[in-house]
Amino acid sequence: MTEEKSASGWNYQPSEPIKYNPLFDLPPKLGSICGWMITRWVSVSRFVLFLIAAVILTLHFTPSLSLIEDSNYDWIAYLFARNTALLFIVAGTLHLYLHVLKVQGDEYKFLKREMAKNSKKFKFNSQVYDNVFWSVFSGVTVWTFYEAIYWNGVANGFVETITFQSNPIQFFLWIFCLPLIRGTHFYFIHRLLHIPFLYKHVHSTHHRNVNTGPWSGISMHPVENIIYQSSPLIHLFIPTDPIIFTLHLIVVTLNPAFTHSGFEQIKSKKTKILDSADFHHQLHHRYFDCNYGNMDVPLDIWFGTHHDGSEKATKQMRLRIKGVASN
Ligand SMILES: [Zn+2]
Ligand SMILES: [Zn+2]
Repeated sequence: MTEEKSASGWNYQPSEPIKYNPLFDLPPKLGSICGWMITRWVSVSRFVLFLIAAVILTLHFTPSLSLIEDSNYDWIAYLFARNTALLFIVAGTLHLYLHVLKVQGDEYKFLKREMAKNSKKFKFNSQVYDNVFWSVFSGVTVWTFYEAIYWNGVANGFVETITFQSNPIQFFLWIFCLPLIRGTHFYFIHRLLHIPFLYKHVHSTHHRNVNTGPWSGISMHPVENIIYQSSPLIHLFIPTDPIIFTLHLIVVTLNPAFTHSGFEQIKSKKTKILDSADFHHQLHHRYFDCNYGNMDVPLDIWFGTHHDGSEKATKQMRLRIKGVASN
């Protein structure tokens, strides 16, 4: 420890002086005020934001049960429009912030290169437009379809629900279990999708994106979206609060916009706002035969498909593909 540090009495201290809310500065600077609000009030985990969104969506932006029960199918069209808007808000904003305006430049960006343009590999010769197309017409369609099945079941009494008020412990248990259920489901359906026939005809649509962006998240073949988005169907069989169902569904559909964003962190100037893409899945898009799950459940370690990004792991993976024991 240096003399200067021991003299201060602190083991660590911020390099910048303490700052107060610029709301009271004159003349007012809107940019600084927004930056402050984002840094101090919005820098929470993504999961908390999804939980807040799930509460708001379930209570205020879901058609009433009486409308679902006896109306024509306008409520499904409403859900499709709402879900499309949600995806545009999340993936569109991330794409704009990180890839168009490049607010944080290349900081925390996994790959230097940009999303593909003039590439025959993609519809409209554009990776972004192609990804938007598959995300909306495949991703949002399946999302809305599953949501309609659930709410139709609730409205007509086929699906039982409980409420937070009647069973708060179960509510919190679900929140604790959701990442585990999702991580396990994702690992096994993902291994299934890598069976050569399914890979060639279905999963390759998603894997054309070696360099991913926010719109790549649920840019998948419809069959893949049907399989991938199926984990919230568990709530058709186990009574839960509908908020948990909505949370499960938006984690499945909106979180991939973050995990595929290409940036490990989202920053506002020097301050981290949120964690974003994970290197674990980025490695899967690069090497294909590794990291099928996520970090919530270590199934990749248990099944020997883990890749930590090192050269040694790449060599081991290649030996494993050739059928040679790697240890
Ligand atoms: Zn992916
Ligand atoms: Zn894959």
